[in-house]
Amino acid sequence: MSLLQVAHRFERYFLSAHPVSLEHYRDAIAISQETLIRNLLQKDKSYSGATPNELIEELASPYYFNFEAQEWSQIQGQLAHIVSNSVVVHDPTCIAHLHCPPLIPAIAAELIIGATNQSMDSWDQSPCATVLEQKLTDWLCSTFGYGCNADGTFTSGGTQSNLMGLLLARDNYAKVHLNWQVQKEGLPPEATRFRILCSEVAHFTVRQGAALLGLGENAVVTVPADDNFCMRAADLEARLIELQNQNLLPIAIVGTAGTTDFGSIDPLTEIAQIAQKHDIWFHVDAAYGGALQLSNKHSTKLSGIEQADSITVDFHKLFYQPISCGAFLLKNRANFGLIRLNADYLNPEINEEQGIPDLVTKSIQTTRRFDALKLWLSLQVLGVEAFDEMVNTTIDLAQSAAQLIDGDRHFELANKNPAINAVVFRYFGDRPEAVDLEQINQQIPKQLMLMKKAVIAQTQVNKKTHLKFTLLNPLTQLEHLQSLLAEIKVLGQKLERDYPKQ
Ligand SMILES: *Cc1c(COP(=O)(O)O)cnc(C)c1O
Repeated sequence: MSLLQVAHRFERYFLSAHPVSLEHYRDAIAISQETLIRNLLQKDKSYSGATPNELIEELASPYYFNFEAQEWSQIQGQLAHIVSNSVVVHDPTCIAHLHCPPLIPAIAAELIIGATNQSMDSWDQSPCATVLEQKLTDWLCSTFGYGCNADGTFTSGGTQSNLMGLLLARDNYAKVHLNWQVQKEGLPPEATRFRILCSEVAHFTVRQGAALLGLGENAVVTVPADDNFCMRAADLEARLIELQNQNLLPIAIVGTAGTTDFGSIDPLTEIAQIAQKHDIWFHVDAAYGGALQLSNKHSTKLSGIEQADSITVDFHKLFYQPISCGAFLLKNRANFGLIRLNADYLNPEINEEQGIPDLVTKSIQTTRRFDALKLWLSLQVLGVEAFDEMVNTTIDLAQSAAQLIDGDRHFELANKNPAINAVVFRYFGDRPEAVDLEQINQQIPKQLMLMKKAVIAQTQVNKKTHLKFTLLNPLTQLEHLQSLLAEIKVLGQKLERDYPKQ
């Protein structure tokens, strides 16, 4: 084959103006769309009910992995199988995790993100995308009450944003208090005495971040939470003083605005004051609760967030974006200098002199997706008020659900007054003394999923297994939860027979 013939064969692989390319592109999109729509029309369940073994067996068929060129029509059945055995994120009873139904404009934006494939690490790979992301980041900074010295970056999510918060806190502490450049010299000898404070119900990524940063998980000191699962500010200050008396070095305080299990929000203003008084970096993990900032009714719950040195927000939770999409916001942009690197091929220093923006200097990723587009398109199409309404609706729903559960003696509610939209409770039944409530509550989510009734979560509260509804979905209504609670009661009664007290 001549080079020309080979090139012609490749036309169908890539998106271009070539008629062959456009035909293949249109077919691929049409078939994908058709697969999605057919699946939606066939299903009104949160899950197909397939067990792990059934899925392992199905995918063991060599048919899935023969990797020989095929027509789309041959693969369509496989695609349909994969899609139809996915959890249905828009289903009103798919309420386990901080796992949202994505907005339609954001799904459309994903297509454009993939097709244009801009890379956010240098301006010459993402000219307009760089400018749009920067402007959206500026908008986010001002939405969170930051001043004009603030800046931020899009991230893969809360894990990365929390890591960045702790990374900058660590490096800033070393620079300011020890005259030490961690980026150049590695950890200072004092690092074994570095400590990070957070509430006992903070996200595990605080510990993970400490481990990755070479401080070790034991560097994380937890502060007790109150009955509403919010950090006790008085205890925070007591812990700080204790640490200082032990000659340990608190480098960061992490406040959580929306704990993953309870949606509880730490007293941010009080924590900010304590952090300021002791000159300690204050990071707010608002991965879950950040969206409350768009709610007229609930934004006061985040008061004080504007005093944080850095903020984590996730858009693939209460902002209804497809995974992955998050941001890290920084009150004082100069602190990005702590992690700044220059690569001759990406962001030579001369770019800055010439006013060419290179976002790579603010990120710990290099090649990076243009995820900002989907948030921007969602805000443009729906308007910011729609987010206000969606957040309010889900919070109202959670409060009604909590009341419903609280008023039913078969259940025991853990969080009486949900600050956001997570409701944690356990099945209690009629004869709690005679049955194994632990086993019963562990079985309920598993069985509900396999019975195709609902996808709900479980967690531990005071070492007891609890059930969790995470009510992100504005399509979920109280009636859905009423029937689900009735199902849980029936299932619980059946399980009481299977699991008498040992
Ligand atoms: C989800 C979550 C994280 C982790 O975020 P990812 O986007 O999953 O990486 C961190 N903190 C809190 C409070 C969260 O809810």
